Amino acid sequence: MRVPVNEPLISEEAKKNILEAVETGWISSAGKFVEEFENKFASYLGVKHAITTNNGTTALHTALLTMNIGPGDEVIVPAFTMIATIFAVMYTGAKPVFVDCELETYNLDPAKLEEKITKNTKAIMPVHIYGHSCDMDPILEIAQKHNLIVIEDAAEAHGATYKGRICGSMSDIACFSFYGNKIITTGEGGMVVTNDDAIAEKARKLKDLYHSDTRFIHEHVGYNYRMTNMQAAIGCGELQHIDEYIEKKNQMAERYNSVLKDIPGIKLPTTLPKNKNVFWMYAILIEEEFGKTKDEVRTQLKEVDIDTRDFFYSPTDQPVLINTYGDIGSYPNTDYIAKHGLYLPSGLAITDEQIDYVCEQMKLISQSA
Ligand SMILES: *Cc1c(COP(=O)(O)O)cnc(C)c1O
Repeated sequence: MRVPVNEPLISEEAKKNILEAVETGWISSAGKFVEEFENKFASYLGVKHAITTNNGTTALHTALLTMNIGPGDEVIVPAFTMIATIFAVMYTGAKPVFVDCELETYNLDPAKLEEKITKNTKAIMPVHIYGHSCDMDPILEIAQKHNLIVIEDAAEAHGATYKGRICGSMSDIACFSFYGNKIITTGEGGMVVTNDDAIAEKARKLKDLYHSDTRFIHEHVGYNYRMTNMQAAIGCGELQHIDEYIEKKNQMAERYNSVLKDIPGIKLPTTLPKNKNVFWMYAILIEEEFGKTKDEVRTQLKEVDIDTRDFFYSPTDQPVLINTYGDIGSYPNTDYIAKHGLYLPSGLAITDEQIDYVCEQMKLISQSA
């Protein structure tokens, strides 16, 4: 049995919609699906505005520019995140400043946040890692106290909640990705969301070349970060299934947990009681007690056709960051989880048989340790 690390599920509605976009000739960013996707996504989140972009990275860049972040500013980001969060800050000329993660949830540790604030700090970008919300209340409190902008990177957390509040609705402006492995996909795609009318208007201009009221007259630099009608067509079809997809992710996690909990040395994903986890990826740590290293486990799984991925790496292992900023500090928790973490096949198309096969192989690997 072959088990890919991620296989997307593409609904019949998505297929029908994209065919309609192509057959009617609306293949660029004009066309009914773009607006429909924005409206439906905003209404799903319960926010006022949703603005499509061509991917999650450009959504982050747009959000940062919208909030006037640029050279001389510092933006606080988690040390444990996907590089796009960090690159988006670098695109603006601002400097990313890192905060170590919690060992339990892998999210930015609010207890280590305040010590990173300087007179140049302008914003905090919490990232809801692997579909489990950050501890937002202390983050928002610290932001308010120091008058900082908060930009959620909710790329991995479609539909996740924290104390009943949905990820992407808790900050000044938030971003989503619709890459092929995200819970809602458009192939490539992204979204900027906000409740503020002026912020929304500016984000909309920035991602579409910043036309002024007279089209083709430009007072500021803008970008072409537009989503196509074909991408939005897929998004509209997929969004109809979001509740079912989140349910499927939770069932996947339960099925993995029920077997893996009995294997010594595996740290299962944590879901705090105040959170609804959407398990973007089923992420585990292979710890000392297991008797084999994470790399050995990954190799042995590969030998039986099971594909896995490493966690994100620590910023201290990124040549681009060291070469740009020199000493960027140390992040022991991030280093630890990066060294011990892997994620198991977690795509929406995964079957119970595939999950059982992965669990069976994990047992065999553990018994031979
Ligand atoms: C996927 C992801 C992004 C980037 O999204 P793209 O659509 O691939 O550009 C940004 N941040 C996080 C945390 C992600 O997981």
